[in-house]
Amino acid sequence: MNILVINAGSSSLKYQLLDPDTGVLLAKGLCERIGIDGLFTYKPQVEGKQALDAVSVAMPTHSEAIQAVLNALVDKDNGVLASMSEIDAVGHRVVHGGESFASSVLLTDEVLKAIEECNPLAPLHNPANLIGINACTAVLGDKVPQVAVFDTAFHQTMPAVAYTYAIPYEYYEKDKMRRYGFHGTSHRFVSARAAAMLGKKIEDLKIITCHLGNGSSIAAVKNGKCVDTTMGLTPLAGLPMGTRSGDMDAGVMEYIMAKYDLSMKEMMNILNKKSGVLGISGVSSDFRDLDAAAAEGNKRAALAIDVFCYDVKKYIGSYAAAMGGVDAIVFTAGVGENSPALRKAMTEGLEYMGVTALNDEANGKRGQEIDVSGEGSKVRVLVIPTNEELMIAMDTAEIVKAL
Ligand code: ADP
Repeated sequence: MNILVINAGSSSLKYQLLDPDTGVLLAKGLCERIGIDGLFTYKPQVEGKQALDAVSVAMPTHSEAIQAVLNALVDKDNGVLASMSEIDAVGHRVVHGGESFASSVLLTDEVLKAIEECNPLAPLHNPANLIGINACTAVLGDKVPQVAVFDTAFHQTMPAVAYTYAIPYEYYEKDKMRRYGFHGTSHRFVSARAAAMLGKKIEDLKIITCHLGNGSSIAAVKNGKCVDTTMGLTPLAGLPMGTRSGDMDAGVMEYIMAKYDLSMKEMMNILNKKSGVLGISGVSSDFRDLDAAAAEGNKRAALAIDVFCYDVKKYIGSYAAAMGGVDAIVFTAGVGENSPALRKAMTEGLEYMGVTALNDEANGKRGQEIDVSGEGSKVRVLVIPTNEELMIAMDTAEIVKAL
């Protein structure tokens, strides 16, 4: 089966073509500067086929972008498909499903309407996702089934005690203000892989999944269901991130806005784009740069790393408390998968809850699913590369096969 996975943004569109049954990736790439000057990247994963790297292709709208993707996939020299009819279905990443979607769903007119109703909750992302869906329908027609996979869906099992904000309840009732959480596709993928690695049923496990990348979030997954997560109504909440503040006293906003005469828009820009480890360090949002700067003695870079690791550790402790224990802690995404030093720092001093010092040799390895727990650890510490596109393709295939 061939599933085209689409992640559409307002002026960009990422794509992958893969077989969810085997996990084999056939091609991937990116359309950038849609509506501007149009740049197209195509990376076939089949030997002998040539890639395109940011070549100019006119893309006034997302429809031309999708058309460029399809043209590349079926190109007679460098394509990976004989014809478009070999695409069995399309899976779309959709950021916000609100309270309407607790799982992935076949796209119908009714579903599109319900996604549109979630637009106010993610005004930058959902409309772009919808444009991507409509562009696919325009180019592929309505015979190719399309599925929506939501970032928020996995977290819909959270109990009210975890998702309710302590603000006047009418804002929840009237305006749906509550914790939703994001990165759900990744948390679901790695928690399922963790159970497989441990040879146990996910229903019997308490797992803390740490998705630590540019954007970071942690989830508490009890018996296969998410019971809490760090991101909130928006992806600004929880951990400090590359450029996002994470949780912070709202009083800080009032003080800074009043003192420097900032608008709400300017303040939100600071919290989303200029804060996090970039804000603390003044060096970079990239943990590799922070590591290098800290090694050269930059104290603020070291502090930024320490603040990040401290917060991760605090959430691990609080989620163990929320679940009444923990069987496995999973690290994934850019930082979680690639930084042995940060994994070590984030799990230090957790002996009281059964986590011993990591196994240095295992912790030093890269690019594979691996148990990095130290000797005698009651809690397994696992590194699991995430694969959100594969999860989207698997969901899409499951829904399409049942049609
Ligand atoms: P996104 O949230 O954009 O998908 P990623 O999951 O790709 O981001 O993570 C990007 C982050 O991973 C960057 O901050 C980068 O510094 C970090 N990262 C990648 N490799 C390493 C490494 N070897 N050591 C530390 N951090 C790393």
